[in-house]
Amino acid sequence: MKVLKFGGTSVGSAQRIINVAGLISSRGRNVVVLSAMSGTTNTLVEIADYLMRGNNDGAKETLNNLEKKYAREINGLFPDDSSFKQAAWEGVSACISIIRSFTNTSFTTAEKTILAQGERMSTVMMYQYLLSQGINVVLLDALEFMRIDRDNSPEIQYLHDRITPMIERNPDAQIFLTQGYICRNAKGAIDNLQRGGSDLTASLIGAAIEADEIEIWTDIDGMHNNDPRFVSNTRPVNHLNFEEAAELAYFGAKILHPSCVLPAKLNNIPVRLLNTMQPDAPGTLIDNRLDLNTKGIKAIAAKDDIVAIRIKSGRMLLAYGFLQRVFQVFASHKTPIDMVATSEVGVSVTLESRHNITEIVNELKKFSTVTVDNDMVIICVVGDLEWHNSGLEAKAIDAMRDIPVRMISYGGSDYNISFLVSKDDKVKALNALSDHLFN
Ligand code: ASP
Ligand code: MG
Repeated sequence: MKVLKFGGTSVGSAQRIINVAGLISSRGRNVVVLSAMSGTTNTLVEIADYLMRGNNDGAKETLNNLEKKYAREINGLFPDDSSFKQAAWEGVSACISIIRSFTNTSFTTAEKTILAQGERMSTVMMYQYLLSQGINVVLLDALEFMRIDRDNSPEIQYLHDRITPMIERNPDAQIFLTQGYICRNAKGAIDNLQRGGSDLTASLIGAAIEADEIEIWTDIDGMHNNDPRFVSNTRPVNHLNFEEAAELAYFGAKILHPSCVLPAKLNNIPVRLLNTMQPDAPGTLIDNRLDLNTKGIKAIAAKDDIVAIRIKSGRMLLAYGFLQRVFQVFASHKTPIDMVATSEVGVSVTLESRHNITEIVNELKKFSTVTVDNDMVIICVVGDLEWHNSGLEAKAIDAMRDIPVRMISYGGSDYNISFLVSKDDKVKALNALSDHLFN
């Protein structure tokens, strides 16, 4: 059994749903995870936001437009009147009614319940469509098996214990369909796995049922070796190991959510990235194998909106405990650090610009001299860079010879070299690396 996950654009219109239905009905007895139709979760966030600000009219108007959109899509999905069309509309209407009920009261803690309706609507539409095509599909309610604990960590054992009997109870089912992203929390209330969390749902279910493979379907043919928005002639990477995929997913390759790598990796379940528009293309396979054929550098990604902070102190010279003191400041603001470079008298770190830099800098200034560089970008070169393989880092650095580099990090893992450059040099750096390393 496999787990197949389809993102928002893959189910973004009636026609797309019909395409995906054809795809999944020809691929055997699997679990299928769907995101909300593209744009829906953003609209639901907007509705919750209006309510939070006390603008119930704004919420109502946005919801009415959403309802009209779904009416149009259902008409597209079922051109003729049928019991399936009726049931799809009733399912979607029930979700809309839940949201509408909050627009008539003062806003309480309904945000998560509102956000959960997107995946419920896309799955009920797909469910009725598959039924109308004569497919024996079972709709599983993710709220009955997906749960996070007090620390917001998903509970795989609970998931396993709940979903296994649901599958066994239906020996004749051809497809099990369920919602990505949504879950319950430790208090039993409706919650979610954070934006983009449907990939994580797929990975968790894959781990829980020991799936043969997790397929993540999008509309690009795998993880590319550079960012196709900025570099021409990129191509999909055939194979990555999980460490390489994690680096790429974290550093900007938006195709796979970074949190989804861990459950698959730990449970040794291969992940395949596939394209709904080109279902026969090989895509990218990610697993625990080290690559014997394609050694060396495989891909390049960039992460925007980075701030670099240089922390210098004469007291750092020959002293111990200085780095701990620096890191303690970041930890106390719950702020993750991406890159680190040290010298005998100073240390530079990077973080994402949305964090509370001002407070952090003020605290660091109590014991050091601090310089901040805004508008930076991390360029991340990923591959099998085990240190005995000589020459790879030299090649990457040589490619960057005309670009001012603020920081370099290498050796933290066997899988990446990171360069910090100004955002104005990002496109130039991506292209220089591609030219030098791949062309
Ligand atoms: N619908 C959710 C989102 O837009 C989850 C997902 O698509 O993965 O973030
Ligand atoms: Mg996604």
